[in-house]
Amino acid sequence: MFEPMIDADSRPYWEGVARGELLLQHCQNCERAVFYPRVVCPLCFSTDLEWRAASGTGTVYSYTVMRKASGRFATDPPTVVALVDLDEGVRMMSHLVGVDPPEARIGARVRVTVQAVEGDLSLPCFTPVP
Ligand SMILES: [Zn+2]
Repeated sequence: MFEPMIDADSRPYWEGVARGELLLQHCQNCERAVFYPRVVCPLCFSTDLEWRAASGTGTVYSYTVMRKASGRFATDPPTVVALVDLDEGVRMMSHLVGVDPPEARIGARVRVTVQAVEGDLSLPCFTPVP
C-alpha cells in the first residue's frame, strides 16, 4: 500500500496539506514555481527555495478513469486521476473529485480541495470550477 514518503524536503508540503493548504516551493533566483518538493531548483540549480501558498487553481492537462480500486486512493471507483497544470506553471498528478467520470474534460478549470483519505492522511485533490 502506498504511503507518502515524508522527508526533510517534503515535510513543509505535507504539513501544509494537513492544514488544508497547498504549498509550492518558489525559486528566489529564477522566480519559478517548483514541484515536487526538492532541494535544488530544476531550472537554474539554485538552492534558494522558499515555500509559498499556491493559488490552488489550475487546468486539467489530461486524465484517466480508474474503474477498479487500487490501494487507498481509489476505494470508491470509478475515480478520475488527472494531471493538473497549476496556474503557477507546475504539473501535479491528483484526483478529480465532485465530477462524474463522463463529465471530466481536458482543459477544465479546477480548484484544489484537500480531502481526508484515511487515518490522518489527506491529499490535495481538485474539483471543477463552476
Ligand atoms: Zn530557479
